[in-house]
Amino acid sequence: MSSHVMPTYGRADIAFERGEGPYLISTEGRRYLDFASGIAVTSLGHAHPAVVKALTEQASKVWHTSNLFKIPGQEKLADRLTAASFADLVFFGNSGAEALEGVIKTVRKYQYESGKPERYRIITFEGAFHGRTLATLAAAGNEKYLKGFGPKVEGFDQVALNDLEAVKQAITSETAGILVEPIQGEGGIKVSTPEFIKGLRALCDQHGLLLAFDEVQCGMGRTGKLFAYEWYGVKPDVMALAKSVGAGFPFGCFMATKEAAKGMVAGSHGSTYGGNPLAMAVGNAVLDVMLADGFLDNALKVGSHLKQQLAMLVDKHPKVLKGVRGMGLMLGLEAVVENTKVVDAARAEGLLTVGAGENVVRIAAPLIITDAQVKEGIDALDRACTKLG
Ligand SMILES: *Cc1c(COP(=O)(O)O)cnc(C)c1O
Repeated sequence: MSSHVMPTYGRADIAFERGEGPYLISTEGRRYLDFASGIAVTSLGHAHPAVVKALTEQASKVWHTSNLFKIPGQEKLADRLTAASFADLVFFGNSGAEALEGVIKTVRKYQYESGKPERYRIITFEGAFHGRTLATLAAAGNEKYLKGFGPKVEGFDQVALNDLEAVKQAITSETAGILVEPIQGEGGIKVSTPEFIKGLRALCDQHGLLLAFDEVQCGMGRTGKLFAYEWYGVKPDVMALAKSVGAGFPFGCFMATKEAAKGMVAGSHGSTYGGNPLAMAVGNAVLDVMLADGFLDNALKVGSHLKQQLAMLVDKHPKVLKGVRGMGLMLGLEAVVENTKVVDAARAEGLLTVGAGENVVRIAAPLIITDAQVKEGIDALDRACTKLG
């Protein structure tokens, strides 16, 4: 019988029954090393004992109360996320796109409250991905994803990444802010230059604009620091998080300075499920693990080892691969052949990876991997490339 699941995804014919750390075990009993991490989500691997414990303990207490009441887990997690970042305030939601919607609303409302309601437009970047809602699709401006879905939400101006001059030209009296992924994920692990990010901060300060970072993919340890912006020595005014922040539990949030969030008062925004006790139990447990002494340093060390090994594969298989990009454990292999062929061949060798823009194969290993597991992954990729070459 054909599937009754709406066919919006092209799926591999494989399903998983359980996971253990960086491994997934299929319903047919085959073990895979998971360097896809559910698209850079399961950063602590699968069934992490501390996270399982936090979720199951909370599950037997209370799941949901709504935001009409105080939720202690939110208070605690907001305290910790703000202590670890530029931000003063956090709004909890359920996904990346929802977090970005909140970011867009915050930026517009800030200008409105500042007596500049004509400033509503946001400068965004080619190759970006911000989610699949109508506003986030318009923000990213990917024509393929917008086609057929009616009039594009107004108010976004795309320019090329790393082109500061183009950003300058795009600023008008209607511009409210700039929204950027410091490292584009879906776009192909495209890293912004430090001069560019510093330049964006300077332009925002000069013109009274808010600087917003989408760290849904590059945040929460993926680059070897808790937040990617730490690499740039530049702080945003607003930022979106999701993916690794819940490590597999549906949870996203956005954060802002007190000033940037001055319009986000009672009644201005909401979410029925956002920040419910289950999500908060998981979020706090994830943060416990990531902030433990040496955890991120170790992820950074393993990441640089992995990047080195990937570079060696590139040298060894020039007919299949031509380069490696990214930082920490947010890495991409530039393919010569179609990237989907590399993803399929790696999967046949027991390694999961995920494609991205610019014909890149994303390597998003969980932050808990060891050097031995790096070797296992590299060996699988080596065999896959040998078959393709
Ligand atoms: C995945 C992603 C999103 C969207 O997150 P969803 O949870 O799928 O809505 C937004 N921005 C970036 C950078 C992402 O990688």
